[in-house]
Amino acid sequence: MEHDTNRDQLTGLLTMSSFADYAHDILDQCEADGTQPHFVYFNVSNLKVYNNRFGFEGGDELLKFAAHTIKESFDHALASRFGDDRFVLLTYGDDLYEGIERVHEAVRTFNPESVTEISAGVYDYEPGVEVSAACDRAKLACDYLNGRYDRYYHVYDDSLLADRNRRQAVLDRFYSAIEEGHIQAYYQPIVRSIGNGVCGCEALARWIDPALGMISPAEFIPVLEESRLIHHLDLCIVDRVCHDYLALAEAGLSPIPTNVNLSRYDMELCDIVAEVQKRLDKHGVPHDMVNIEVTESAFAHNQQLLHETIDRFHAIGMQVWIDDFGAGYSSLNVIREFDFDVVKIDLGFMRHSNEQSLERSRIMLPHLVNMSKELGMQTLAEGVETMDQFEFLKSVGCEKVQGYAFAKPMSFEDAREKLAASENVEDSRSRVYYDNIGAVNLMRPHTIDTNMSREMGIASGLPAAIVEFYDGKIRYLLWNDSYVDYLVDIGMNSIENSEKQMNDLTRPQSQGFFAASEKGKETGDWLHLMFYEGEDLCTGMARLIDIDEATGAFSYVYIAFNVGRYLKRAGYEPPKQA
Ligand code: C2E
Ligand code: CA
Ligand code: CA
Repeated sequence: MEHDTNRDQLTGLLTMSSFADYAHDILDQCEADGTQPHFVYFNVSNLKVYNNRFGFEGGDELLKFAAHTIKESFDHALASRFGDDRFVLLTYGDDLYEGIERVHEAVRTFNPESVTEISAGVYDYEPGVEVSAACDRAKLACDYLNGRYDRYYHVYDDSLLADRNRRQAVLDRFYSAIEEGHIQAYYQPIVRSIGNGVCGCEALARWIDPALGMISPAEFIPVLEESRLIHHLDLCIVDRVCHDYLALAEAGLSPIPTNVNLSRYDMELCDIVAEVQKRLDKHGVPHDMVNIEVTESAFAHNQQLLHETIDRFHAIGMQVWIDDFGAGYSSLNVIREFDFDVVKIDLGFMRHSNEQSLERSRIMLPHLVNMSKELGMQTLAEGVETMDQFEFLKSVGCEKVQGYAFAKPMSFEDAREKLAASENVEDSRSRVYYDNIGAVNLMRPHTIDTNMSREMGIASGLPAAIVEFYDGKIRYLLWNDSYVDYLVDIGMNSIENSEKQMNDLTRPQSQGFFAASEKGKETGDWLHLMFYEGEDLCTGMARLIDIDEATGAFSYVYIAFNVGRYLKRAGYEPPKQA
C-alpha cells in the first residue's frame, strides 16, 4: 500500500517537515492579504498515564480524535502532528480562541471515564521569524502551562524567550562557574538574643559572573533544581565553607559555626550525608562547626529518606535545622515528625501586609517559640530588620535572630575583617552556657520544675526572670510580664530599678542574694529565699542554670512572688517585718 510521506500515518495530519514547506506559502499569502497568522501548539497532558489505563489502542483513539477535532475547529488551518502528543497549527482569519476552547472541551470530555486535558500555546506571528522559531515560541507559551490546570492556553510574549535564554545561560555556565570560582559563599551572621553576640552564620550562595554580573540565588537555584544539578552547587558551598573555615584559622581567628543550605533534591541525587562528611573530614573541619538547613518543602517528598538523612547527620554529630518554618502552606507536622535542633521561623512572620497580620504575628510568635522549646528545639527568627522586632523576639524567648538589623550577607573577605574587628563574637566555650539559658522557658515557668509548681500550688503565670552574676554584679538577662507586674507590686517599679537595688550591697536582701548564689552554684539545688521588700513579705526560688566557662559568669532562673498578699487573701495576717 502506498503511503503519503507528507502525512502522519495515525492521524492523517501533516508531518513536521511538510508543515514547514506549506507554512511558508500561507505566511506569504497572509502578508499579501494583510491578515494575522497564528501558530498554535497543542499538548495532550498525561498521554502515558492514559495509555497505561486504556492501552495503546485507547491512546491512539484519543490522538485521532484530538487531530480530527483540531482540524474541524478551524476553517483556515494547516495542521500537523509534531510528535506523540503534540500538534502544531498555523491558522488565520478564524476565531482563534473559540477554536481553542472547542478543542479543549471536546478532548476533555472524549472519554467519560477519564478527563483529558489539552493545553495550547499561541504565538501571534511576526514577519521575518522563521517557521521553526515560530513553532518554538508557541511551544514555549504552551510549556508555560506545565503543571497548571487553571488555564488551558497561554499567549507568547518575549519575556518567555528571555527567561529561557537566561536559564540556558545558567546551565551552560554552571560547571565552569564552579571550576573558576565564580560561585562563592556569602556569610550572614546569626546573633544570640541574649548578649547580642554573633554565635554563627549562614552561608548563602552567590554567583558572580564576569559577563552577567551578580546572579541571584532566586534565579539559578530553581533552574539547578529543575535540571537536577543542585547537589553540585550545595556541595560546592560546603567546599567553600571548609576552605574559608581553614583560612580563618590560619589568620589566627576563631571560626564560628556555619550553616549550609541543602535542597530537597540533594538526598535523592547523591548520598548527601557521605558527601558532606567527606568534605569536612578532608579539610579537618569539626562536624559540630557546620550545621545543615533544610526547607520545609523537602517534606512533601520522600519522608522515609528524610528521616534517615536527619538521623545520619545526627549520628555524625551534625545539627539539622528546619528552614522557612511556617512559610507557604506549611504544616506543623514537620516538627512533630522530625527531630530538628533549631526551628528557623520564616521571614514572612516579620513582614506584614496590614495591621491585622502584624497583630496576629505578635500573638503567634510567642506560641511558636514556646512550642519549639517544649519540643526541645531552639528558635531563630529570620528577616529581623528593626530593633523593635528584635526586642520583641528576645522578650518572648526566641534564642537567635538573623536579619538586616544586624548585617546583610557579605563576602568572606568582609566577614573576616568584621570578625577580626568585632568584640561581640561569642566564645565557643560560652555556647553551651547560652544554649542552656535559652532552653529555660519563662513563658511557662511551671515547667521548669513541676515539683516546685505543685509545692506552690500555681500552674502558670509565675513571675520569672533569668539573672546573671558576673564580676561581682548581678544583671537581668530575661524576664516575663508577670515578673514586671511583681516588681511594680512590691514598689520596685522597673527592671532597671530592681537591678540597681540588687547591686546595692548595703541592703541586707542583696547581701542575701549574693551569698545564696554562691551556695546554689555548688549544690545546683533549688534555693528557697524569704525576704521583705518594704512591708511585703516575698518568697523566691532560684536554681543555677549554668556557668560560662569562658568568662566565669553564671546564671540563675529566679521565680519570686509577693507571698504576703496571698496569705492575706487566705485570711492570715503575715508577720510584720522586724
Ligand atoms: P534562605 O535560606 O531562607 O536565606 C535567607 C534569605 O533571606 C537570603 O536571601 C538572605 O539574604 C535574605 N535575608 C536575610 N536577612 C534578611 C532581611 O532582614 N530582610 C530580607 N528581606 N531578606 C533577608 P538569598 O541569599 O537571596 O537566598 C535566597 C534563598 O536561596 C535562600 O533562602 C535559600 O533558600 C536559597 N539558597 C541560597 N544559597 C543556597 C545554597 O547554597 N543552596 C541551596 N540549596 N539554596 C540556597
Ligand atoms: Ca537558609
Ligand atoms: Ca529561610
